[in-house]
Amino acid sequence: MIPIRVAKPPRFGDGFIQIEPPAVREPLVNPAPAAHSEGHVTDMKVYIDGKFYAKEDAKVSVFDHGLLYGDGVFEGIRFYDGKVFRFEEHLKRLELSARAIALKLPISLAEIQEATLETIRQNELRDGYVRLVLTRGPGDLGLNPLLCPKASIIVIASTIKLYPPEMYENGLAVATCATRRVPHGAFSPMVKSLNYLNNIMAKMEAQNAGAGEGLMLNEQGFVAECTGDNVFVIKDGKMTTPPISSGALAGVTRAVVLEIAAELGVPVSEPDMTRYDIYTADECFLTGTAAEIIPVATLDNRPIHDGKPGPLTRKFIERFHQLTRSTGVAIY
Ligand code: PMP
Repeated sequence: MIPIRVAKPPRFGDGFIQIEPPAVREPLVNPAPAAHSEGHVTDMKVYIDGKFYAKEDAKVSVFDHGLLYGDGVFEGIRFYDGKVFRFEEHLKRLELSARAIALKLPISLAEIQEATLETIRQNELRDGYVRLVLTRGPGDLGLNPLLCPKASIIVIASTIKLYPPEMYENGLAVATCATRRVPHGAFSPMVKSLNYLNNIMAKMEAQNAGAGEGLMLNEQGFVAECTGDNVFVIKDGKMTTPPISSGALAGVTRAVVLEIAAELGVPVSEPDMTRYDIYTADECFLTGTAAEIIPVATLDNRPIHDGKPGPLTRKFIERFHQLTRSTGVAIY
């Protein structure tokens, strides 16, 4: 167990929360670790409620409602070359997800931010992925969240490689899933909750169909998103993506792609979309923090256009990579 020591209290600015790096850190970490984005983190340290634990000792209560009921929320965040990409957006979405399920943050957002940065530092990473988890915390065996006095926060920093490089080169096979996206009337699909069974059931279907990702439709049969990614289509130089009202998560990468589209002068609209729009598209790609931007080669074994990543998709990927390398919140 390594206690975390935050030397200076966080400052709240007008926009993003500015935090000064702690003057004292235990143990002292290498301020400029070599980028080890490949392979596994050795001696991983996991943050749980203010303390760092070795991977094998990083455990939560069996009475935690995050485990018992999927009662909690999370974020997946990437950092590139020593900078956390779109950190503010991820923290904001975490806060909104927590608010939507009436989960009181156990520490302030500024402290969550610092705990995240410190976890990356403790693991001496420059490139990787952070999993930020807020659980309802331990309670009794009933559903009642009021019997869970304190939420828990977990931060895991590691490396990531979602799809092999050839899929970025050649495009991904996507299959439509029979499992429909959870409707807004049942539970808001905008909440990035710890209950991902809807997406997991769909992912299984995609895997059974031999596809890398699964396309999820909503109750009305309109395209919502993929099991862990948002979906974009390009046709006649114009870009479309399903609206958030379709059941799509308000993806952070989705928002970056919309920014890039504005920059490149590509017109964007968010109409109700059906599979027809994807089958007949010139180009299609998916976006997600883990997947970044990945071209789609086929949907339900039908090639999108010529079945190869299109020229605009490549432009978006290139610009996205530039942004991930040049922007973000400094870790060290
Ligand atoms: N949809 C779902 C269901 C997801 O889990 C994710 C990954 N968080 C996304 C879309 C993409 O969102 P983001 O770009 O914020 O990672």
